[in-house]
Amino acid sequence: MKTFCGRANPTTGAMEWLEEAEDYDYHQEIARSRYADMLHDKDRNVKYYQGIRAAVSRVKERGEQAIVLDIGTGTGLLSMMAASAGADFCYAVEVFRPMANAAVKIVEKNGFSDKIKVINKHSTEVTVGPDGDMECRANILVTELFDTELIGEGALPTYEHAHKHLVQEGCEAVPHRATVYVQLVESRRMWAWNKLFPVHVEAEDGEKIIVPPSEMENCPGVPSVCDIQLNQMPSSDFTALSDVVTMFSVDFSKPVQSASTSYRVQLEPVKSGKAQIVLSWWDIGMDPSGMINCSMAPYWVNPTSALQWRDHWMQCVYFLPREERVVQGEKVQLTACRDEYSVWYTLQKASQEEDAAAAAAESPVCRCQAHLLWNRARFGALNDQHRTRQYSEALRTVLNTDSVCLCISDGSLLPVLAHYLGAKQVQYFILIFKLFKANHLEDKIRIIEARPELLKPSHFEDKKVSVLVGEPFFSTSLLPWHNLYFWYARTAVSSHLTSNVTVLPQSASLHMMIVEFQDLWRIRSPCGICEGFDVQTMDDMIEDSLNFRESKEAEPHPLWEYPCRSLCEPQEVLTFDFRGPVPQQCLSSEGSVNLRSVEGKSHGAVLWMEYHLAADISISTGLMRISNEKGNCDWNRHCKQAVYFFSSVTESEALAAPAAVTYTINFDTKTGEIAMDFKL
Ligand code: SAH
Repeated sequence: MKTFCGRANPTTGAMEWLEEAEDYDYHQEIARSRYADMLHDKDRNVKYYQGIRAAVSRVKERGEQAIVLDIGTGTGLLSMMAASAGADFCYAVEVFRPMANAAVKIVEKNGFSDKIKVINKHSTEVTVGPDGDMECRANILVTELFDTELIGEGALPTYEHAHKHLVQEGCEAVPHRATVYVQLVESRRMWAWNKLFPVHVEAEDGEKIIVPPSEMENCPGVPSVCDIQLNQMPSSDFTALSDVVTMFSVDFSKPVQSASTSYRVQLEPVKSGKAQIVLSWWDIGMDPSGMINCSMAPYWVNPTSALQWRDHWMQCVYFLPREERVVQGEKVQLTACRDEYSVWYTLQKASQEEDAAAAAAESPVCRCQAHLLWNRARFGALNDQHRTRQYSEALRTVLNTDSVCLCISDGSLLPVLAHYLGAKQVQYFILIFKLFKANHLEDKIRIIEARPELLKPSHFEDKKVSVLVGEPFFSTSLLPWHNLYFWYARTAVSSHLTSNVTVLPQSASLHMMIVEFQDLWRIRSPCGICEGFDVQTMDDMIEDSLNFRESKEAEPHPLWEYPCRSLCEPQEVLTFDFRGPVPQQCLSSEGSVNLRSVEGKSHGAVLWMEYHLAADISISTGLMRISNEKGNCDWNRHCKQAVYFFSSVTESEALAAPAAVTYTINFDTKTGEIAMDFKL
């Protein structure tokens, strides 16, 4: 059997369906999964173990047999903990077949085959009875089905079903309870991920302002959660308007209802300001006493307690539908609505309570289109005034009053900048966006909804394009170099360009640097023994999937969330000259970089693109600067960078920094992909 995988082709920008071997999907799933990260989450593991031991003892003290149901067993870890704690029998349910197979092996290797039965089913398919999957209902319910938003992975319907069909009334549950916390904040930085701010352009005839359409102001946006490593958000980037309060909690030892509902709390602002954002996280109490607590609270909540780094659980940023002025001491109501899988928030002042609460019940739907076109990072980039200034300055150097300008980039403001900054003549752009109406530019900027290779002279009213611009940015790009699609599009439109066409950016370069990660290495590092249980089978399985065909390649990560130190000077490894078409032959680069003689482990290479807009104006989508002598790096906050983990991370502990690293990097002009190899 074959499966088909959708993927954007970086040479055409189009989605393509590639036929893949049957096991492709699950190799991807395992290679990119969070299992390794969970196994490295010491705080989580220790507290689960404590909670499970306590639950087994309570059942035993009542003189009952301890029968455990572990839903979503993964490696079998929590069932093995239960068996070690003295449980009489465990039913370990896992829906994902490769994981269920791994659990069987791991359970056997650790000598628990007689105590743990792995059931490869979704929990809602599990049967109970003499001929069923489970002989009887369980009296201990153990699960770890939570995501950053707590309920996004379907914990509620799973619990609801389990209480109805799989566990006894009054069962023990580990965790016993989850509690969701919120804090109301004002933050220009985070609000910039959700609304377009007016964009100021210094034009020859005075300042022009690109205004966001009015629909955008009140648009509730999209319901998908914005999960980030909030611990990387400096306190100077937001102002707390309220204390941290409990929004709602779920008791997992009692029947759980998954049907949509809402919760309301009263907040007394501790400061006056613009309420824009609700920051949220949760904790899980492993036992009824609440003494064994695993918390996702960010650094400012319990400044004295040590933070556990983890990537499988982070914190949530919720955007209020619109900003609302709050005054210190004047109470407001915060409503959390949820359906089975997601949560959203609204704020009501005393005067507008009833209407607003009714409106809140509906899951947010974007009305302005922008939230469908731009993701959070993209909003952030478009709101970056420094970035806008750099493009404006560069555009000013290439545009004149009779320029015929073509812009190739997704959801870009460049056409508007170009209009204000130069050519009074008609301009043509390929892009898909409707912000122009709000700025009365419908007849100044023409949208050509056609792929570059299908353009005809008539699209340009038989004129030739004298200025071709791009950020470049394409929403289908996963890795930094996928935006080289601009070069392919430039090649496809060659016949429509004047012989002395100006292309902006004129070129791009690929940069590379060897780094030591503070924590990110954990997601690829084998675990070996976890709380005394041998989980090497899982390590091997991940390793196997990483080695499966193309898995051993660079992966995108937003590095502002994942601190690292540079171990060498950044290297420019490849350049791409947009003034000419894409060449036939591949571009490649080989070399060796000397590592700084500092204490540090080489975890991998980071790669990013820089675009050269004009003689002395370049935009980096990666490194902004190395901020101190320790080598700590500042990264472009709007972009993901490519990370290539060295095998020293994936195989065992990273090597102490060697003196030099040699590299080979090859850009295949046929496929638009970059292959790389590093030797330490
Ligand atoms: N319990 C393990 C793994 C947790 S990851 C640990 O704590 O280390 C969650 C696992 O639950 C995933 O492997 C997922 O495939 C599985 N899962 C989620 N919902 C499920 C359900 N309703 N029934 C069976 N398996 C489920």
